Amino acid sequence: MNEQNILIVRCGEVALKGMNKPYFERMLVDRIRRNLKGFDGVDIRRHEGLIFIRAEKNLDIDSIIKETAKVFGVASISKAVEAEPELNAIGAAAVDYMMNLIESRGAKTFKVEAKRADKNFPVKSPEIGRIIGAKVLIGCKVLKVDVHKPDVLLHVDVRSDKAYIYEGKVNGFGGLPLGTNGKGMVLLSGGIDSPVAAWMMAKRGMLIEAMHFHSYPYTSPRAQEKVEDLARILASYCGRFKMHVINLLPIQEQIVANCPEEETTILVRRFMMRIAEKIAEKNDCMMLITGENLGQVASQTAESLVVTDASVSMPVMRPLIAMDKVDIMDKAKEIGTYEKSIEPYEDCCTVFLPKHPTTKPRLERILESESRLDCETLIENAVNSEEIVNIRVE
Ligand code: ATP
Ligand code: MG
Repeated sequence: MNEQNILIVRCGEVALKGMNKPYFERMLVDRIRRNLKGFDGVDIRRHEGLIFIRAEKNLDIDSIIKETAKVFGVASISKAVEAEPELNAIGAAAVDYMMNLIESRGAKTFKVEAKRADKNFPVKSPEIGRIIGAKVLIGCKVLKVDVHKPDVLLHVDVRSDKAYIYEGKVNGFGGLPLGTNGKGMVLLSGGIDSPVAAWMMAKRGMLIEAMHFHSYPYTSPRAQEKVEDLARILASYCGRFKMHVINLLPIQEQIVANCPEEETTILVRRFMMRIAEKIAEKNDCMMLITGENLGQVASQTAESLVVTDASVSMPVMRPLIAMDKVDIMDKAKEIGTYEKSIEPYEDCCTVFLPKHPTTKPRLERILESESRLDCETLIENAVNSEEIVNIRVE
């Protein structure tokens, strides 16, 4: 028996990165290492385009698989056993492996799928499959071959130094390792959308920092705690990050006192973007990220988005722009933010909500309204009042 559990990790898109492949693989191993640092007795290495995790038998292998599957860049994971790359040794390991499955799961039928990654191995893949299949049939008398719907599809992967035997795989999310694509500042509300937007950008390798606005005392400290909880869920994928928190109330009050009521929302949004841009610049973030989605609400009509966009020069990423709400909700459920997001707490956007928000704002009109405010000072004061919360998985 093996002293260790072995996981084979496949790298998905990282494998396509040509000349940069070693860099992406190194980043991926680094990220897997970070996610597994709570487990003592784990060895992680890359070899011939795969990543191998060896974990001492006493460790909780299912948790290790779960944590590994959260690492962006991981396509899939299989729990494997290894054998010397020689047919008798592989056959014996395959018989052992199937015996276990007969006992634990009552497996009755199987099929072998063999692959020869080492082209110097003297036997070709289909022949390996036939030979190992025959050995399993002899070693496990209760088993039959079923090529169409086997209970167990037994993979035999013969490599230069070892052969691996496994069945099934756990899918990862794919994407690219964190840290391979700059850093972005996500405008994080307590809603369903923005955590998903952050997650999607992080999945493409972007490190995340977050920015949250509240309107204390109109919004409660509990509302901010909810956002921190959401951020912590994100941190389980994105690693630790800073969340910048700013009270938007002084600006909202100025807008309400000096500008047309129906423009409140769009004006507030432009301030949010400008403050976020300033904080992003200070923190080496190259882009802003929002959970905006075309047509979802008055502030997300095409016209509103254009006017919002015009407030900043930093690129604004809106990864959810063309998704349907049900799909965004499904994604939120998949990544584990949904239940938290639907908890009912007030958001600063719902404070001073106009009865009839403009859905087709015109930039000249909005600029005219803003000219009644001392925008620069308001923004500067807001930026200077930031509080920073360090977000990390507990
Ligand atoms: P969400 O579900 O992400 O809250 P939403 O559909 O409620 O989005 P809006 O409230 O119009 O839409 O917000 C659009 C985007 O603006 C959000 O996705 C988020 O990126 C940003 N945003 C809204 N409110 C806040 C806030 N209080 N702090 C930081 N960013 C915010
Ligand atoms: Mg919202």
